[in-house]
Amino acid sequence: MASPIDATHDAALTSWVESANDPATEFPIQNLPFGRFRRDEDGDWSIGVAIGDQVLDLRRAGLLRNTQMNQLMRLPRDARRVLREGISHALRTGSATESACREALVPQAEVQLGLPCEIGDYTDFYTSIHHATTVGRQFRPDNPLLPNYKWVPIGYHGRASSILASGHDFLRPVGQTKPQDAQGAPEFGACRRLDYELELGVFISRPNLLGEPISIAQAEDHVFGLGLFNDWSARDIQGWEYQPLGPFLSKNFASTLSPWVVTLEALEPFRSPFSRAAGDPAPLPYLDSPHNRERGAFDIVLEAWLQTDAMRKAGSPGERLARSNYADAYWTVAQMVAHHTVNGCNLRVGDLFGTGTLSGPAADQGGSLMELSDGGKRPIRLSNGETRTFLEDGDTVMLRGVCEREGYRSIGFGECRATVLPARSALAAR
Ligand code: MN
Repeated sequence: MASPIDATHDAALTSWVESANDPATEFPIQNLPFGRFRRDEDGDWSIGVAIGDQVLDLRRAGLLRNTQMNQLMRLPRDARRVLREGISHALRTGSATESACREALVPQAEVQLGLPCEIGDYTDFYTSIHHATTVGRQFRPDNPLLPNYKWVPIGYHGRASSILASGHDFLRPVGQTKPQDAQGAPEFGACRRLDYELELGVFISRPNLLGEPISIAQAEDHVFGLGLFNDWSARDIQGWEYQPLGPFLSKNFASTLSPWVVTLEALEPFRSPFSRAAGDPAPLPYLDSPHNRERGAFDIVLEAWLQTDAMRKAGSPGERLARSNYADAYWTVAQMVAHHTVNGCNLRVGDLFGTGTLSGPAADQGGSLMELSDGGKRPIRLSNGETRTFLEDGDTVMLRGVCEREGYRSIGFGECRATVLPARSALAAR
């Protein structure tokens, strides 16, 4: 097998696509993330690769015959590596196929970017111990972290039907709410504590058969790559409904996924050791491997940005609310795959895992407003004088992700964005 870091990661590589050589681009030739695009609303989806501010149509460029992303995702890792090499060669400065590929380029600004694939089942994990501790403290000040947390990668089965492509706005949800100390019947109306969750999405590639677990050593062969994921959450609905079976309508009204999947191959230079604080238990053997200890984590800087309606009207791009790093998570991608299947549960191509809210160790690294505003008790002051505890109608949340490492070209994830629209008025009436 080829070394995981190869010529496609060479920082000296340049592309004949001018914008890909701009130091500010998130899509240099070392990245090559996959996505689906179409030129008009009624057109068919095509598979493309982001390069600078352009999309390369892989079929038109003669680099791929199939048109289904889920088929591409099924390819064994070695075959995917060969495809990546082919795309890298075609886009390099001096490429023999430059003129043919030029015909297959489309500006990103001129196409619609969709969900990267047909999404099957969706599971959301809870892999940030910092998020779990901060949120747990709001409910149980003396006992924030439940005893299973350091042993079990906690998750719940979510719903794929309401996962939206970046740029699709959604309605504020309505539902039942009842504050912890309130008496009498619950209220019914529009959510008043609407939140975002800064997460990564993990795209499952190769399936496993029912009854046949995926070992941690094999786990990454079943993963295509990562994207940005916003698990919008209605905290007031969640607080009333979550016991005893976990989140339900507080989570299934909308989630937003970025258009580009950054492959595990592209992420190879940005891997980190997976380690735990002294005194924490070692993972059980089925969640442990030398590779996972040495390279199981990913160093990805994550950011959440807010653009309020007032900021938009003033021409402001918005402001950053928080920054964290995926390397601070308590469980890795490989551990999620191994745990999810250890009982024989079968994963299928196109299944999606959410990592859970990725908060860092510091108080200003919260991956949700619930953390940053201390459960709504401490309003966040924005630079234009506005304040927020939770999201208001017209607010746009944008997630970003960037990998940077000495000796390598920086790569990014693009953008995961959506705007909160007012609740349907008939349903919102109290
Ligand atoms: Mn979540």
